[in-house]
Parts: sequence; C-alpha cells; structure tokens
Amino acid sequence: MSQIETNILPQMSEIWERSLDWQPSKTQEQLFQQVYQEILQGNRQQNLTRITTPEDFWEKHLWDSLSGIVGLEEKLLTQQLQLIDIGTGAGFPGIPLAIAFPQWQVTLLDSTRKKITFVNNLIAKLQLQNATGIVARAEALGRVPGDRANYDLALVRAVSKAAVCAEYSLPFVRQGGLAILYRGHWSDEDTASLKSAVAKLGGKIELIHPWETPLSKGVRHCIYIRKHSATPKEYPRAVGIPDQQPL
Ligand code: SAM
Repeated sequence: MSQIETNILPQMSEIWERSLDWQPSKTQEQLFQQVYQEILQGNRQQNLTRITTPEDFWEKHLWDSLSGIVGLEEKLLTQQLQLIDIGTGAGFPGIPLAIAFPQWQVTLLDSTRKKITFVNNLIAKLQLQNATGIVARAEALGRVPGDRANYDLALVRAVSKAAVCAEYSLPFVRQGGLAILYRGHWSDEDTASLKSAVAKLGGKIELIHPWETPLSKGVRHCIYIRKHSATPKEYPRAVGIPDQQPL
C-alpha cells in the first residue's frame, strides 16, 4: 500500500455534533477523504499546504472551514445560498462547505492560476455540481456586475489583514448578506479598527465568535459582518491598494 493510501482521516462524529450541531453523512465523509488524498497528491506538484497529518488536516482544514457556519441562523443552512470564498488557495474553506451544503452554490476565487487549476480538477474528480473555481483578483472581480453585490455569503480565510479582507469581501455581498472573516487571535483594538473600515464599506460587525479548535486548542475567531447598505463605488480600490493602504 502506498503512503497516500494509508492516510485515513479520523472519524469525529461526536465533535462535529457537539461543536457545530452538524455531522457528515457517509458520502460526505468519503468526499472529505478524497479531498485529503488529492491534496496530498497535489502537494507533490505544488505547495498547497503544510498541514498534512490526518488529525491536523481534519482539524485545521475540514473542521476549521466548517466552523464559519456556527454564527449563521439555522434556517440559512437549508436555503439555496450563493457563497464566494475569496483567496481559496487549495479550496478552503469553500470545498468542505460545498460538500457539507450541496444546496449552496460555491464560487472559489484565487488570483493564482495554478491553485485554481488544482481546485477545478478537484471539483471535477469529486463530481461536485455546486462549485466553480475562478482566477481573478478580488479587487477586480468585486467591480464586475453579476459578481458585485451578488452573494449571500463572502468568506475569507488567511488572506490578509482584517480590514483588507473586509474590502475584498463586502463588495461581493448583497444587502442583508454576510461577510465572514476567519481569524486567529483577536483583540478589542482589532474590533475598533475593523469597525471603521467596515462602516466605509456599508457593513456592520454583527458577531465575533471566539473558538478553540477541538484537538490542538488553537485560538480562532469568526467575524460576522452584515451588509446593511450598498458599498460605495470607489470600493474595492485598484488592485494592490487595499493591501498597501488598509482602510
Ligand atoms: N484560504 C486558503 C486557506 O485558508 O487555506 C488559502 C490561504 S493562502 C495563505 C492565501 C491565498 O489568497 C493565496 O492562494 C493567494 O493567491 C490568494 N490571494 C491573495 N490576495 C488575493 C486577491 N487580492 N484576490 C484573490 N486572491 C488572492
């Protein structure tokens, strides 16, 4: 048996249930396992992730991706939502969410063509009908009619500073929808500075959910930002500016 075939993800039914009030079906578990194997395989060709042991992969990619749903109203989970994952890299958090919520339509955005080639191959291998990868910069696609103000949820994990992630994500969100920022450590000062950035973009911080990851007890915070009015047309600023001069 090859090295890859011996890497089996742990079953964590009780933790899924306790932390997220959700459990994968057998089919979803098999799809998670397939994602894991494809990532290990893809890592041989390009640097997709350093998180490769079964427990780490389960916690830091699968559980962590799904942890963003905890602040959502339960009825949203069964609705047909449009979701965009900005700076998806190898497909996180978008791919686990597309598997967990097949009724959601998931767009996976990254500016690196090689990453999106991997993601689109992964989508084809998993036969996911509800996910598509797109190569673009968030600052550019966020201005395109049809994508701007088109999504119920815009998610950003491990891409840049919080204010930058807000400028990337809020233009994509329809009024009434949510941007969800996946963060590590978080302080009151972080909240204060994000508040002023978010106000300029037509949003308001609705909830900050502190988390501890279930196996290694890492610190996480999910920041939920509600879009209450249209994002002014000057945002997002030109490519590169949000990152150079965060709001
Ligand atoms: N979200 C993934 C995760 O949590 O595993 C990947 C994180 S990776 C550290 C950051 C990704 O964001 C990279 O793949 C990069 O190409 C992408 N990225 C950075 N700035 C971007 C932008 N302005 N528009 C689109 N993608 C961007």
